[in-house]
Amino acid sequence: MTAAAPGPPKQGTAPSGGSEPHKVGSVGALKIKLGCIADDFTGATDLANNLVRAGMRVVQTIGVPTSPLGAEVDAVVVALKSRTVSPAEAVSQSLAALAWLQAQGAQQIYFKYCSTFDSTAQGNIGPVTEALMDALGIDFTIATPAFPDNKRTVFKGYLFVGDVLLNESGMQNHPLTPMTDPNLVRVMQSQTRRKVGLIDHQVVAQGEAAIRERIQQLCVDGVGVAVVDAVSNDDLRRMGPALKDLALVTAGSGVAIGLPANFGLLPSGQSGQLPPASGLQAVVSGSCSLATLRQVAQFRSTGRPAFVVDALRLAAGDDVVAEALAWAAPLLSGGPVLVYSTAETQAIKNVQGLLGVEDAGLLVERCMASIVLGLVQLGVRQLVVAGGETSGACVQALGITQMQIGPQIDPGVPWCHALSALAPDGLHLTLKSGNFGSDDFFRKSFTILSSERPR
Ligand code: ADP
Repeated sequence: MTAAAPGPPKQGTAPSGGSEPHKVGSVGALKIKLGCIADDFTGATDLANNLVRAGMRVVQTIGVPTSPLGAEVDAVVVALKSRTVSPAEAVSQSLAALAWLQAQGAQQIYFKYCSTFDSTAQGNIGPVTEALMDALGIDFTIATPAFPDNKRTVFKGYLFVGDVLLNESGMQNHPLTPMTDPNLVRVMQSQTRRKVGLIDHQVVAQGEAAIRERIQQLCVDGVGVAVVDAVSNDDLRRMGPALKDLALVTAGSGVAIGLPANFGLLPSGQSGQLPPASGLQAVVSGSCSLATLRQVAQFRSTGRPAFVVDALRLAAGDDVVAEALAWAAPLLSGGPVLVYSTAETQAIKNVQGLLGVEDAGLLVERCMASIVLGLVQLGVRQLVVAGGETSGACVQALGITQMQIGPQIDPGVPWCHALSALAPDGLHLTLKSGNFGSDDFFRKSFTILSSERPR
């Protein structure tokens, strides 16, 4: 391990030394600027979306790719599932992602975690940060989950969700990652051997020079990781230039808005441009979150066709997949159809009581994934999937390993374009995690896609 050496920070030690490739693996012909490692799937999309909006062309991969990058882009976000696995597993996945990103020539690494700093008692934010720092041979990085657009702000090191502290936001009751301490300096310090410090709002408000000066001082004081305050997008944009020389940035998706400018990139419609959309349209929803319940109700109220997947009938062994596809086949040419298992709490509890929580979830996920496969075979090439786990199951069933990130539909949810053996020319898809998106998200998605014209 590299000790946090006093003296000036090793800030100029970007992994590939600017234009020079890093010595890990072989560097392909296509080089990226920013290499990102995200600890979950929809979080990766959220980060990719912010980078695209700030001017980068971005590909998101599902897991660590096994071959070199095949597209000319500015950033790659490797989506892992490392948030709640053991720290050792999270470190191993993250180091594999780092090695691949370095082999693609990444000049800066971004470790992305949740804007509510979701971590278990063992980590994994601290252990992964430390392992990445060791691998990069650096003594200093920052940590900030601030994402003001989604009402996540950090002040004096305390994380707020809307108007309340993290530990009063409901996150204290999260089943996997209960967050009971809103002080991020303390939380981070409990997860790492490196000394944790703070760059507070007074400094951030003064801009780049003051932030750089503070970083220098923290390094002299032996601080290895600094939590950084940010209460607005202006703070994040002020922070961006001061982070230019850091080999590693760790953050939620918010900090991403200030980084593309460091590579000479500015917001433009070009960065999110996807191939033109064609083919039939469908929505598949396995999310039971409140926002999705409203979106399903809204779509149905427009009179568009909708098919409900009844989990109790699934549990009884009925061939609901075949029924749904037979129902959809003649309707698809008339516009988007909806297939949904989305249900209220009591209906879900009934199935869960019968099968157990995990098996009920898996049964429905497998059914929705099979329906998606069938819909793509029927010619669907514009697909909206609602639900984080449901999206994972569908993407896996379609054999998708990477997605190009396109225009935003709603905060955190962009259209994507991907190749699948079933759709060799590609399909457009958007993966909406539970509580994202406005009530008219389903219809709006298709409107936005059809209004995208090649520039
Ligand atoms: P969200 O992003 O809203 O949390 P997910 O897809 O991640 O949505 O999770 C929803 C879970 O609920 C999935 O495991 C899904 O299979 C399951 N599910 C969906 N509909 C039903 C239902 N009617 N009964 C029981 N479980 C369901």
